[in-house]
Amino acid sequence: MAVAPPRATHATHAVTNQAEPLEDYNVFEADRPLVEAVSREGGDFAVDTIRAVGAIAGRRDTIELGRQANENPPNLRTHDRFGNRVDEVEFHPSWHELMDVHVSHGLHALPWRRPEPGAHVARAAAFMCLSQAEAGTGCPISMTYSVIPALRKQPEIAAVWEPRFTSLDYDRRLVPAADKAGALSGMAMTEKQGGSDVRANTTAAVALNGGGPGAEYELTGHKWFCSAPMCDAFLVLAQAEGGLSCFLLPRFTPDGERNRFHIQRLKDKLGNRSNASSEVEFRGAWAQMVGEEGRGVQTIIEMVNHTRLDCTTGSASGMRAGVAQAIWHTDHRAAFGKTLADQPLMQNVLADLAVESEAATVSALWLARQFDEAHAGDERSALIRRLATPVLKYWTCKRAPSHAVEALECFGGNGYVEESGMPRLFRESPLSSIWEGSGNVQALDVLRAMVKSPAATETFFGELEAGRGSEPRLDAKIDALRAELGDVEGIESRARRLVERMALTLQASLLIRFGDDAVADAFCATRLDGDWGNAFGTLPGGVDCARIVERHRPQVG
Ligand SMILES: Cc1cc2nc3c(=O)[nH]c(=O)nc-3n(C[C@H](O)[C@H](O)[C@H](O)COP(=O)(O)OP(=O)(O)OC[C@H]3O[C@@H](n4cnc5c(N)ncnc54)[C@H](O)[C@@H]3O)c2cc1C
Repeated sequence: MAVAPPRATHATHAVTNQAEPLEDYNVFEADRPLVEAVSREGGDFAVDTIRAVGAIAGRRDTIELGRQANENPPNLRTHDRFGNRVDEVEFHPSWHELMDVHVSHGLHALPWRRPEPGAHVARAAAFMCLSQAEAGTGCPISMTYSVIPALRKQPEIAAVWEPRFTSLDYDRRLVPAADKAGALSGMAMTEKQGGSDVRANTTAAVALNGGGPGAEYELTGHKWFCSAPMCDAFLVLAQAEGGLSCFLLPRFTPDGERNRFHIQRLKDKLGNRSNASSEVEFRGAWAQMVGEEGRGVQTIIEMVNHTRLDCTTGSASGMRAGVAQAIWHTDHRAAFGKTLADQPLMQNVLADLAVESEAATVSALWLARQFDEAHAGDERSALIRRLATPVLKYWTCKRAPSHAVEALECFGGNGYVEESGMPRLFRESPLSSIWEGSGNVQALDVLRAMVKSPAATETFFGELEAGRGSEPRLDAKIDALRAELGDVEGIESRARRLVERMALTLQASLLIRFGDDAVADAFCATRLDGDWGNAFGTLPGGVDCARIVERHRPQVG
């Protein structure tokens, strides 16, 4: 009897060897360097808030909100059906849900609502957690957090607006701020003819009745970038009679009319697509002067310093997301008979990414502590903050894109596909380096700060010296840095090189004192001693890659 041929099962689509998504975990608790840094830098008093935000950030539905918000970018409605200007931006419901999480947990206001030691640290940590689920919402949240110290330069205006900006109620309506449960702030400095060079601003401010700090003005001009234009008010730079000055420009005038703040169009951006970034025109828009006339930059810089801190923590957050995703994926995927994460070369890549991420986290949270102490009146921290903010903003943000692309590659082809979330991480990664002062501008700001304040330079070196004695590679770098700073010939052209070295020496000093031994050792061998290649995954022999990866492995469940 003939034997029947085996029946074809057509089972060609068995899904095997594909990683599960990294979700339903606590983004904070799973991040050992961050947990340690929060405790070390004084943020423990708010650890319950950070933990709660970490739990939300890792939930499947929050991650899904982040996807939806980016795949359904905002739309501009300039006019209503009758032809009246409305200047409204419509967001997908997911945007509003995410904004509600930010605001209800005080990520826009924690240090102003609870001005305790460690408040900026705690806020930075929570911000780092939620940014991993979605980064675009961080823009209005960061600007609202940052506006308060600038606004306080005009106490009577701060008395009206600070309670609105620090409310825990997210009120999405475009109605007069006085009628809202809570308000948000944006910032508009950049013009077509001058972004970095704000002295080239031409927006004109005309006093309505006398003028001066706190007085009313009408602003006429154009801003080339104005992100989150659905905010309730904006800090704006404009030329008054006495020079470039800072103004608070609300969406509604005091008599309840829509202000002459006209959104021209939304930018079609590389990333950050959930967030709206617009071009706006002020056609005699009502505003009030904040701070002294002619000292607009000195006023708004208080805001910019805080958003620069967020650029640093935001980039550290992106790196942590990349490391967590890369380790998770390679833990759940095998090739050539072995789990990817256990293959020696992949371990080297993961460990190298983890070293970079830990350096970024440790230094960002340390910087947040300098903000805490400076606000509490500590002179030394104020000096350190002046220099360390542009140093770390420059370097941490510069590292983010190459870090993101390498984390993406750990996924192989899956990393190039939108569903993995890695393309979004990659597209987001160059942004923090551009806004709030691009790379060159940061590097030049460091030079300016050192020239203006030798005390800031000495305090900065004091922080480096605190790590001296236990690691010869650090000691040598501190000496070399001093020598290099002593050579002022052509220093402007060498500014990036110098600032990079300042950042690396600072990160090494912090890691040696506060970080994990294996991480500090790998950092010194590569970033200080040059025993490193031109790509991630080139850690030298002798580095304990397995231990570093284990430290950074996201624990789920
Ligand atoms: C998505 C997005 C959102 C934004 N949102 C806002 C916002 O809400 N509000 C706002 O005010 N702005 C916003 N900006 C603008 C941003 O802050 C500016 O783009 C940035 O400050 C650079 O200014 P610029 O674009 O005019 O470039 P430029 O000033 O023309 O600079 C171009 C390049 O030249 C370099 N450069 C400048 N000066 C020097 C120098 N002296 N020596 C060497 N190199 C130099 C810069 O580093 C940069 O690389 C946003 C930008 C982006 C991309």
